[in-house]
Amino acid sequence: MWQAEVRVDLDAIRENVARLRAGTTAEVMAVVKGDGYGHGMLPAARAALDGGATWLGVCTLDEALTLRREGVTAPVLAWLLAPGLPLHEGVEADIDLNAASTDQLAELVAAADRAGRPARAHLKIDTGLSRGGATAADWPALVEAAAKAQAAGSVEVVGVWSHFVYADAPGHPTIDRQLAAFHEALAVAERAGLRPRYRHLANSAATLTRPDTHFDLVRPGIAVYGLSPVAGDTYGLRPAMTARARVIVVKRVPAGTGVSYGHTYHTERETTLAVVPLGYADGVPRHASNAGPVRLAGRNRTVAGRVCMDQIVLDCGDDPVAAGDVATLFGSGADGEPTADDWAAAVGTINYEIVTRFGSPRVPRVYDGLRA
Ligand SMILES: *Cc1c(COP(=O)(O)O)cnc(C)c1O
Repeated sequence: MWQAEVRVDLDAIRENVARLRAGTTAEVMAVVKGDGYGHGMLPAARAALDGGATWLGVCTLDEALTLRREGVTAPVLAWLLAPGLPLHEGVEADIDLNAASTDQLAELVAAADRAGRPARAHLKIDTGLSRGGATAADWPALVEAAAKAQAAGSVEVVGVWSHFVYADAPGHPTIDRQLAAFHEALAVAERAGLRPRYRHLANSAATLTRPDTHFDLVRPGIAVYGLSPVAGDTYGLRPAMTARARVIVVKRVPAGTGVSYGHTYHTERETTLAVVPLGYADGVPRHASNAGPVRLAGRNRTVAGRVCMDQIVLDCGDDPVAAGDVATLFGSGADGEPTADDWAAAVGTINYEIVTRFGSPRVPRVYDGLRA
């Protein structure tokens, strides 16, 4: 019997991916970086593939190699690669690799030589995010070097890609500007003789709101897990994660009792306090002190006092609460419990960060809808 758990509904992931798939003519790359946004990379990846994703996207080479080691054979793209990594291991494992500069491309060529087979490259253009990606000024040199490396047999240019600044604000002027810059970069690549099979740009927000950005492949992350990147619309997605725990201690205390470290909360009257064994070591943001919503005994309450490393306290008034009762921090919302969106609003962050934080190894992840 559990004390605290993160429950992940894999059927929700399957259905979310199927929904995304149904909304596009492009293939779907499910992004499973960051341990599947806290849901567990491997179960999330398998459920996404069941749901119709044909690609997986990760950040690090290590994440990609882990997918291969666990027997995942679908195409995988890894995009954040420090100089000096053993990229030949990626080439040998048939992992697609990002190249955003001629230096990175040279590393791919060296890796291909060592592996004895061509490296599968996705060339990244910076269309405005100013993060990874070649600038428009450096792009012609990158595509020319890539065309040369492809002619020499050391690289296969599989993709050309970029990433949005602000697609979560539909109608924001950066979206059209980036789309135009992407078209321009594709034209430059074409003039260099490249015909990449996969042109890709759309994250979840653009997948949901801008079909004209889908090209050959879309890269949804947060939507796979049932959370919306766009405030005010769920797009029919179903949140996959629930975080909950059993009440450890219940006690009656008088009015004016200070609660938790620093006594930032005092009871207004005689009341019942319930101690819930989840804290910031488990992913509860400390900013949720006196702010985070928790459902217990049929009602949503607010964390009373500071969030501790291992526990939080709830003020339950005269409601009947007993040790062993289940307190739900967030879930799909279907039973009235708070959602990751409610937590994000309460602590001033985004739903992405809430679910990703609950990847602590201390809290067991329990999967619903596992398939053999
Ligand atoms: C994380 C990430 C995504 C997925 O973004 P979401 O907003 O979660 O859909 C797509 N592409 C890149 C390059 C990313 O880093």
